[in-house]
Formats: sequence, structure tokens, C-alpha cells
Amino acid sequence: MEPFVLLNHSYFTLESWTKSFPGLIAGFTAKRGGTSKGSFESLNLGFHVGDEVSAVRLNREKVSELLDFPLNYWVGAEQTHDIVLKKITKADRGIGSDSYEHSFKGTDGFYTNEEGILLTLCFADCVPLFFIAPEKKMIGSAHAGWKGTVGKIAYEMIQAWGREGIKPEQIFVAIGPSICEKCYIVDDRIINLVENTLEDNEILPYNLIKDDQYSLDLRELNRQILLKSGVPDQNILTTGLCSSCNHEEFFSHRRDQGKTGRMVSVIGWKETANRL
Ligand SMILES: [Zn+2]
Repeated sequence: MEPFVLLNHSYFTLESWTKSFPGLIAGFTAKRGGTSKGSFESLNLGFHVGDEVSAVRLNREKVSELLDFPLNYWVGAEQTHDIVLKKITKADRGIGSDSYEHSFKGTDGFYTNEEGILLTLCFADCVPLFFIAPEKKMIGSAHAGWKGTVGKIAYEMIQAWGREGIKPEQIFVAIGPSICEKCYIVDDRIINLVENTLEDNEILPYNLIKDDQYSLDLRELNRQILLKSGVPDQNILTTGLCSSCNHEEFFSHRRDQGKTGRMVSVIGWKETANRL
């Protein structure tokens, strides 16, 4: 069953998690219902892609209202395809919420165990990873394109949480809307790096199509890295939604040849006071 369920035309909710964990907001935006024009039509949430800043702010306000999560409670990152994670506290709220310049530099993932913070990351094909350890109230998200994936950002998160006293078997992960293997064709250079992350007996997450052309399943590669990090198979949910195949719903960096908008992944606990 698809874990990401359309709640309205602008937003997919991570249904089983939000049903299981009261106060949790977790999901992924769609590209409909915004104010941006042209290549960014219409719910572009990325400041760094060449869209009008005022339109992006309006779009973010719309999502903030939809989620009932104030924009000045959001945090956002520069996202440099690296594997640096940042633990967020309430003191950080608002950083990266209304401009790219003031977002967390050199950061590709967040985690927190505090309420009233919305962790957001921008996507258009790269793999959004959502993490939760409900017993410790820890939540997190990471941006895994091919670089972050082969750099093992998924493993980095499990390690970081280990330092917080969280065991891999206490962690649940959801692999969100991103480019599917049919749409994601890469060359030898990337496959060599993928090979370095694999062990001998594993199912290959790629297929040779023709000379120097491979179809790569980044979601499956992340799943394998999570399994090796100790996360139980039954704790991992994987989407079937492709950003490139689903023209109506998502921006796709590959399909749209680089000039396109961004969706955001969101995960956060609502403040208990606001829930009462
Ligand atoms: Zn596809």
C-alpha cells in the first residue's frame, strides 16, 4: 500500500505515521495550489531556483496554513548533496523558513526531539528520507540524491541517533516521492560509487540498459543501506510515487531539464499546548 496519501491537491500525508503518532505532521507537498508561474507553476517552495521570492513566500504561507504549522517554526537547509546532519532546537526556529541565504549552510538533514519545529527540505527527484523513533520522540529527515545516497546519509542518521541512545530497531523510516528507476539513467562513474556501498550477495539496485547507461533505483539503494545500518525491514516504508512519471503532481529536475520548482518534505511535532 502506498504510504504517501493525497490529503488535498497540494499535499501527501505519510498516513500510517500520522495516524499512529498523535501530534505528528509528516508528508510531502505536491506542485498544485500555489501562485508561482511558468516553470515554477505553481506550488514551488524552493527559494534558490530562480522563482520570484515573493511567490515562494506566499506558497510557503499556504502550506503553513494547510498544515497549521506557522512558517516561523520551520527550518530549512542549503542542501549541498553532502551528508552533514544538524540537531535542531527551538532556538533554531525560523532559520531558512523565509530565505535561502539564511538557511543552514552545508546541511542535508535535520533531527529533533522537540515540539513546535517543522523540519523541511526541498526536493525535485532526490530521495526524501523520513525518520522517527517514537519511544524517544525523535524525528528527522534527510536529502538523498545519488551523492547523499552513496555517501550514506541514511547510515549517518542512524549513527547520530545511536549517540542519542536510540537503537536501530527502535527507528522507523519512510522513503518518499522521488525519481523511479525507469526515469533515472546514470553512467559508469555513478555506478562505480554505488558498487562501493554494496556487499557481495546483495540484489543490485541497478540494471545495465546499454553501454555506460544504467537504470538506478535510489530508493532501493537507500533501503539496503538502512537494513545494513540495523533498521528492521518491517520498519521501512517505501513509496511508489515517482516525481518524473507523475507530471501532474510533482516537479522533476530531470524531466524538466533543470528549470523547475521544488516540493518540500515536512516532519514535525505540533506543540502539545496547541493540540489541547
Ligand atoms: Zn518515473
